[in-house]
Amino acid sequence: MWRAVAVRALLGAGAGIGAPRAVSGAAAAQLRRRLESELEEIRGAGTWKSERVIASRQGPHLRLAGGGGGIINFCANNYLGLSSHPEVIRAAVEALEQFGAGLSSVRFICGTQSIHKDLEEKIARFHKREDAILYASCFDANAGIFEALLTPEDAVLSDELNHASIIDGIRLCKANKYRYKHMDMQDLEAKLQEAQKHRLRLVATDGVFSMDGDIAPLREICQLAQKYDALVFIDECHATGFLGPNGCGTDELLGVMDKVTIVNSTLGKALGGAAGGYTTGPKPLIDLLRQRSRPYLFSNSLPPAVVGCASKALDLLMESNAIAQSMAAKTQRFRSKMTAAGFTISGKDHPICPVMLGDARLASVMAEDMLKRGIYVIGFSYPVVPKGKARIRVQISAVHSDEDIDRCVEAFTEVGRKHGALP
Ligand code: PLP
Repeated sequence: MWRAVAVRALLGAGAGIGAPRAVSGAAAAQLRRRLESELEEIRGAGTWKSERVIASRQGPHLRLAGGGGGIINFCANNYLGLSSHPEVIRAAVEALEQFGAGLSSVRFICGTQSIHKDLEEKIARFHKREDAILYASCFDANAGIFEALLTPEDAVLSDELNHASIIDGIRLCKANKYRYKHMDMQDLEAKLQEAQKHRLRLVATDGVFSMDGDIAPLREICQLAQKYDALVFIDECHATGFLGPNGCGTDELLGVMDKVTIVNSTLGKALGGAAGGYTTGPKPLIDLLRQRSRPYLFSNSLPPAVVGCASKALDLLMESNAIAQSMAAKTQRFRSKMTAAGFTISGKDHPICPVMLGDARLASVMAEDMLKRGIYVIGFSYPVVPKGKARIRVQISAVHSDEDIDRCVEAFTEVGRKHGALP
């Protein structure tokens, strides 16, 4: 019953002052029936995604709307804890006051401020690349690059488990498309051989795959790229700011910064967590994106407050790697204690720590029970991850205390025993 009411409210059925008004007509009625049945299907399949409402800042400790306080948060991409860092917030307020709420314009018409240029220069310096270009999100950066760069004469070779935004970006381009098996270098080599007939080959991979916390074999990918005269593109959303000695990312961690041509990443995770994305790489490529990349050309400039956050986050990281080191130590603490307790944690040395459970229902009921114990984690099951590989994904942040981590492990152990995931 409440579902029908919610759907009606969403679609505009209702009456009275301020209530949404339903659009009349046969087409609108037919659409409503179709949407309602589609929504029912999603619920029936058990894949409905509901959203918990947070009533506090993003951070290690949350208050949920409706009064649930004292929740320890293990499911944000706030790897370095910068989302609510006082200096990051201050920088946003200062940028807001000095440069206003927003640009009411795209970059090339009337939307480029000195802070946009400064941030692009800082990003390029951080990644040791020639230039950088900002987007409203990394989703946009991924949507905008392949179409601008590749033609029907070219080829793109993509890991089958790449992020949805890479997949969509590749769909938009007219290049020849090859999908290689996840991190399978034999398959990539076979596909590279097949793709020799094209003018240019671009291998596209996530630096870190967010469902498993596994790191792409970039050294091997770069060796193959060299052998078969290909370029390498990486999406560093789950690496920028903390992987590698200076937090530059997967390419720094694996010693191939000079072999990866294009890096796309986000400002919406470790780098302050507000929003925004970018491409960094050779200057002519960045120049071309400013001319041709559709999400850049036809979407509003990043708001100054968002630029201020990211810029301050990069300053903090370039001053010291202490924050990243603290996160690494906490990751290690969680992974080793959970393994000792008898759990299997996928990936290695990454703050994405998927607790592998296999069964979808088990992952879901355990995540619910964890929340009852004050630990906010999320269960993932098919179709987000392969069938039979359900898991609870835990994400560690530099701002978790050792006590937070230990409480999480204790809760997992209790809940795991209760539901038979541990003996
Ligand atoms: N690429 C990867 C690997 C991601 O995990 C995400 C975000 O979930 C994105 C791209 C999109 O980033 P943004 O939130 O900046 O659009």
